Amino acid sequence: CGIIGYIGEKDTQQVLTTGLRKLEYRGYDSVGIAVFNGESVQVEKSKGRLEELQQQLDQAPVLGNMGIGHTRWATHGRPSDENSHPHTDDKQEFAVVHNGIIENYLEIKRELIEEGYTFRSETDSEVISHLFSHLYSGDMVTTIQKVVQRLEGAYALGIVSKHEPNRLYAVREASPLIIGSGEYEALISSDIPAVLEHTRDIYILEDGEMAILTKENVTLLQTETGRELSRDMFRVNWDM
Ligand code: GLU
Repeated sequence: CGIIGYIGEKDTQQVLTTGLRKLEYRGYDSVGIAVFNGESVQVEKSKGRLEELQQQLDQAPVLGNMGIGHTRWATHGRPSDENSHPHTDDKQEFAVVHNGIIENYLEIKRELIEEGYTFRSETDSEVISHLFSHLYSGDMVTTIQKVVQRLEGAYALGIVSKHEPNRLYAVREASPLIIGSGEYEALISSDIPAVLEHTRDIYILEDGEMAILTKENVTLLQTETGRELSRDMFRVNWDM
């Protein structure tokens, strides 16, 4: 339902939770975040309201310079802690948030289970984090290309990988995603208002495009070819 992602020097957990608050009006049944601290990806997620996640985070804060967050509106699998996003792979090397529906997930899931991957949720989305692990080739752009080649349906994805401590990735097909480019920080979101507190300089990601975010800059690529795109940033002058 809603996506937020952050890379930069602020308190990532704080940026993600305030971003999620801005996405609440869309409705949701579960909420979660994953933060990468340079060594490991920590995930906190739960069925229910953001307040419940906030309580978990007050007990066990997650620190780091990049992360992703999600409000879920269940389409495949009931609302539960396990079905909440972000989803990870068996080795906790990749964390993914997904908006949309993967139409061919059962086929992919069957294949990955045969390969020995363990599924912890009933969602269509979990195939994506395992596909990353399965298809990872040492290069994230190539891996994203291979992963999305397998996916049929609608998706906006935010991805963090243990292999790339200083890069946040986003890719979309038939589900909205925007990129905010700030000073020594960058954000992704399904919705412009969720990033306005940090930046008003926005790129709209189109279908068939991916984005690489670092603290310093944002690069947009055509997903299929990896060709770099030049796109004008636009400045948001309205308030929410
Ligand atoms: N299809 C996914 C799920 O059910 C994502 C739903 C959403 O967009 O929130 O978990």
